[in-house]
Amino acid sequence: MSFEGSCHCGAVQFKVDAPPPTTAISCNCSHCRRRGALLSFFPASQFEVTQGSEALRSYKFNTHKIDHQFCQACGIEAFARGAKPDGSPICAVNLRCVPAIDLDALDVQTYDGAKA
Ligand SMILES: [Zn+2]
Repeated sequence: MSFEGSCHCGAVQFKVDAPPPTTAISCNCSHCRRRGALLSFFPASQFEVTQGSEALRSYKFNTHKIDHQFCQACGIEAFARGAKPDGSPICAVNLRCVPAIDLDALDVQTYDGAKA
């Protein structure tokens, strides 16, 4: 099973080889609170940019451990790349960029990224 998503203008398309999540993380860090993302995390091996990787730009802040990748045309950040504490690469997907997901049906858990 897989699901697909995109930035707003459609230049950047991605696919995740996993069932569409039923839960999401809402983080209150200085970045997430501004963009309002609903996040779900996947091993990088299950994540693929299928179109528009040349349109992606990178934004890093604080410890610079997370590579926030956004579309240069529309500015939407559909995903970010990072690593788990053991070093294995992961992707944080913004479920708001996945049209097939019913956002109101997600079980949203809060993460206190402002204090982490
Ligand atoms: Zn775009």
